[in-house]
Amino acid sequence: MARVYNWQIRRQMSYWYPENRPQKQFAAVFDINKCIACQTCTLACKTTWTSGKGQEYMLWNNVESKPYGFYPLMWDSKLLGMLGPQAWNKETFAGRTIFEAAPAGERVLGWRPAEFDYAYPNVGEDDCAGTVEHGVSLHGPHMLWFYYLARICNHCTYPACLASCPRASIYKRPEDGIVLLDQGRCRGYRECTKACPYKKVFFNPLTGTSEKCIACYPKIEQGIQPQCFVNCIGKIRLAGWISTPEKAREDNPIDYLVHVKKVALPLFPQFGLEPNVYYIPPVHAPAKFLQQMFGPGVQAAIDAYRSAAQDEKLAGLLGLFGSTERVVPRFAQEKDWVTAREEDGKEILRVPLREPIYIREAFDKKYQVVRTNCP
Ligand code: SF4
Ligand code: SF4
Repeated sequence: MARVYNWQIRRQMSYWYPENRPQKQFAAVFDINKCIACQTCTLACKTTWTSGKGQEYMLWNNVESKPYGFYPLMWDSKLLGMLGPQAWNKETFAGRTIFEAAPAGERVLGWRPAEFDYAYPNVGEDDCAGTVEHGVSLHGPHMLWFYYLARICNHCTYPACLASCPRASIYKRPEDGIVLLDQGRCRGYRECTKACPYKKVFFNPLTGTSEKCIACYPKIEQGIQPQCFVNCIGKIRLAGWISTPEKAREDNPIDYLVHVKKVALPLFPQFGLEPNVYYIPPVHAPAKFLQQMFGPGVQAAIDAYRSAAQDEKLAGLLGLFGSTERVVPRFAQEKDWVTAREEDGKEILRVPLREPIYIREAFDKKYQVVRTNCP
């Protein structure tokens, strides 16, 4: 085991290989508050990459309802139970990561889902935390909650799938940090499906090899965002590049959301993988539940997001989500506009900070009809 630095848990930790960061790291921010669970992302991925035989229950992208949705069944709660207490000392993780908690003779603490666990991808959909009593809909406020969690492979800095593979079939590309699986080398031992805590490697029983999300790398190489991003109806997703905290740039959208505003947080940072998909947490769910999922920065992230209406730069950047197919390496907010820019500063597009509002006359004289205006 090597000693490596994981900035998400603010400490050194043990990992199977020495620290070897890519030249650039692919990363994404998902705004949970905007997801409507339409599953367009799921189908955009499925029809592009996993519509073949043996891939029927393979969802490289899935969207589950928390707290009761899981794909595969119990993927997170089972490992959380195995890992034991996960205390934080302010921003430093004081417990053990899944690499440090590995049983003797194993590289990672993990578990392998059974076939049955993949059979119900929409279990718990729209189930809220708590019981809806008869008649409660007539009286507010309602303290019941649920939220949608869209998930892809996190293209982790310290991938557990890669660490666990006895064939060295899984590798992290030095040019963009995307984690790929070489099916020519894979012999189907399924150590990766056991090790990945997010359960984002899948076994194909017909080919006898594992498969995983490839971050649509042929598109990324052209500077275009992946399928699940450009097809997102809720415009919740933004793809880009993340720096380590000491190299963060204010004009890099991902750096700004993660390092500067700290409004986007990693999923289960305590597992120790330094995952590179970041989430703006839902503002309506209990902070205690969210802290276990996104770490100690949850309340500050929610406060920053709630104040976006008074923060033009943050509000402008949130308006860029879903506005272009291009990956946006840079952005700038100038007066009433926010611009997406290429690495060299060339403008990709601009969106207004405030959309104009048009109020129609309730009575349309031309067509002699009464219309209802939505506020
Ligand atoms: S397409 Fe976007 S809004 Fe729809 S479920 Fe996926 S992430 Fe959510
Ligand atoms: S999310 Fe899982 S499959 Fe993806 S890189 Fe991390 S450990 Fe590997």
